[in-house]
Parts: sequence; structure tokens; C-alpha cells
Amino acid sequence: MSNEKYNEIEKLAYKKQNVFSVYDKTDVFSFAEKYKSYLNITKTEREAVKVTVDMAKKYGFSEYKIGSKISIGDKKYFINKNKQLILFIKGKKNAPVKIVASHIDSPRLDLKQNPLYEDNGLSFFKTHYYGGIKKYQWTTVPLALHGIVYKENGEAIDFSVGESESDPIFYITDLLPHLSREQNEKTLKNGITADNLNVFVGSIPLDEDLKKAIKLNVLKILNTQYGMVEEDFLSAELCFVPALKARDIGLDRSLIGAYGHDDKVCSYPAIVSTLEYTGDNTIITILADKEEIGSEGNTGMQSGIFVDILNKIAEADGVDPSILRYNAECLSADVTSAFDPNYASVYEKNNSGIISCGVAMSKYTGSGGKSSSNDASAEYISKIRKIFKENNVIWQTAELGKTDAGGGGTVAKYIARLNIDTVDLGVPVLSMHAPYEAISKADVYSCYLAFKAFIK
Ligand code: MN
Ligand code: MN
Repeated sequence: MSNEKYNEIEKLAYKKQNVFSVYDKTDVFSFAEKYKSYLNITKTEREAVKVTVDMAKKYGFSEYKIGSKISIGDKKYFINKNKQLILFIKGKKNAPVKIVASHIDSPRLDLKQNPLYEDNGLSFFKTHYYGGIKKYQWTTVPLALHGIVYKENGEAIDFSVGESESDPIFYITDLLPHLSREQNEKTLKNGITADNLNVFVGSIPLDEDLKKAIKLNVLKILNTQYGMVEEDFLSAELCFVPALKARDIGLDRSLIGAYGHDDKVCSYPAIVSTLEYTGDNTIITILADKEEIGSEGNTGMQSGIFVDILNKIAEADGVDPSILRYNAECLSADVTSAFDPNYASVYEKNNSGIISCGVAMSKYTGSGGKSSSNDASAEYISKIRKIFKENNVIWQTAELGKTDAGGGGTVAKYIARLNIDTVDLGVPVLSMHAPYEAISKADVYSCYLAFKAFIK
């Protein structure tokens, strides 16, 4: 066969493209800087809501009050219980409805309701982990304390300790190698258990003669600095997150290391593309809470609030909500796993997200034969594929890992069950759910271009 003929036939084959070879590196890197700044101030869903509201106000969005009428041209944000945010733009009458749904909660260590205790000269906070974590990864890393405490009189105290250079950080110990003979024989899963995830908070006694004097000294500090008493922990939501800033990784600075890429790496591009939107479509951008524990609760994707707002939008157009939902289109914007050559055996390379090859679409997620997955239709994927082609979006497809290696889910199924066309689209992540995850700057930029094209 001639070379010419071979080359012609070779064009029939599907190949992934590296985003860095297509887009302007300056654009990719400058978007990454803005994303890093966002990450550093949005470590919890509550913080993400506040920061995003401030951004939205600058773009002329105003607060939506529950139950109120929606009118054509409205640019609104709805704060649901301080932990979930819905941005929406009401387009022209009966305009296409485009939905992007991501989440702003990330795996972490929550404080128990009665967390403070003293043990052999040290004082600790007892934690209960939130979301799927590998427990051993959370020892010996600097931790910051975030959250809110409500005093008996209802007054709120905001916490963010460990982010500023002058702040103390918090810490979970691990055994020294010299005494780990028994621990080393355990499985990775059992080497560090939930019972070991006790966070050091203090070791100076209030008074040498007093029992539990170290715990009392911690309480004294909490009272002096925050005006709280121990009982106030009962009505608090405090958590430990890594006290680490987003940083470039690699000599070429191609990756970003940070806590909480899952799922801020999709939320941030969704927010920016929505705020910058100027067309006639109706846009709904959901920043959900509780995805990491199954999208439960009234701030999770299963909450009725989403349907409530859809109904109000249908009312504005004078259409039946079932028609609006039937015609609406959604991208479930969540991360997927990036192929990791160091652990190649759990991936199937042809169907894995490859770093820097763009935002990744997952037709289905789930586990054990697509169980519990939204299996998006060929018709809908074809629509999205055409949009991306027309707008020069570099994208790829991805499955979470090889068949039966494990699995996971996203918010997609909770939207699809409302009869809304939905497919998963998100950034491939290395070391997902670790205290410090990694993504490619190229992929977060591609994600931004994908959302822009989708809502256009
Ligand atoms: Mn996620
Ligand atoms: Mn996750």
C-alpha cells in the first residue's frame, strides 16, 4: 500500500488530541490562575456559596426569593440553606433550557457533635469522615478548621483557622516506621481506621492540679477567642480540610495540585461561563451540596428545590413543566478519573480520561454492569458532539476505570429521572479524593470552553 493511501485510511481512525497542541497556552494558563485563586477561598460548600454570590453580584445577578415569580431577562442566584447555590438566567419566552449541574462539597473530616476530649496529656477533636476517603492519606498533613458554630442564643461564629501563614494548623499523627511492624502487616484499608482520625488541638494544661486540665485550656481558648462554650459544638458544622494552597505541579507547570478539585474544577468553569453568558437561552447552573454522600439532604441534588425552580421557569413561559423538562438539556458536571500509568492495571486505556486531552464525557457511570447509572442516549450525545465540533472544543470520552475494577456515581441520575436529557462531562483527576488532588490546566480550560459552547 502506498504511503499516501495508508495516510488516507489512517484518517478514519479516532485519535485523542492534546489540548496544549491546540489552544493558546497563554489562555490556558491565565484561566488556571483564576481557578487557583477561587479554590483557595472555597474549601467548603458554605464558602463556595459566599464567594460565588459575590462574583454573581458583580455580573448583575440578584437574589431570588423562594416562591417568587420569575420574569424574562432575570439573572438570579438562589441560596439554598447557605450550602447550595443555583444561578439562573431566564431567557426569551420558550427559549432552550440549558442546565449545568456540579457540586461544591468535597471529602473531608467533620467534627463529631461532642468532639473535644483529653487523653494522656494531649487534647483532640474526634472526627467522622465525610465522603469516600482513604483514611491513611489524612494523617501527618497540615489541616485547617473551617465551618460555623451556633451559640445557644442563635449567634453564629464563623471558623477558618489554618489558612493564613500566621495561623496554627491541626494534625493527625501516624506511627513511626520503627514501631509499625504490626501496622505494616495490615491491609491499606485497615492500617489507619476511623478511630485513629483524631485531630490534635492542644497540650498545655490549664493548671497542673486539675483533672482534664488540657481539655479545659482548649475550652478557655475557644471561649476567649470565639466566645463559645463546649455545648455550642452541639449546634455546629465544623470540619478539617487540608491547610494547603493550590500550586502548579511539574517543571512545565502543566498540572494544578489542590484540595477539592472534585468538583470545583467543574463548578468554576460552570460559574464563569454562566456569568459571562449574554445570549437568549435559559441557563440554570446548580452548585449542589452533599454529592459526596449520595446527593442526600435538602441541599443535595435530590432536594425538591431544583424542581421548584424549574416549575417557576415553566410558569414564566406559560408552559406545562413536563414540556419544559422534556425539552431541557443538562450536563452533569463532575470529575472522572484520569488514567494513571503508575496504576495502569485498574484502567482500560482506550476508554479512560487521558490527562490534557480535554474535558471527558462519560456516557455512563455506576458499577457492576452500569448499575445505578444514567446511561445517556446516543441521540443526546450526538447533539453534544455536534455542538463541540462546531465550537472547536477538544474533548474525550472516559469511563471511571476498567469494567468491574470499582465504580462510582454522580448527580446525573437524579436529573435524568426528571425526564431531562443528561450526560456526565467533567475534568479527569489524578488521585481523586486525596487531600491533594491533581488536574491538568488544559482540561479545566477545555471544560470552560465546553460549557460555554453548550449554553450558547
Ligand atoms: Mn464529584
Ligand atoms: Mn467525589
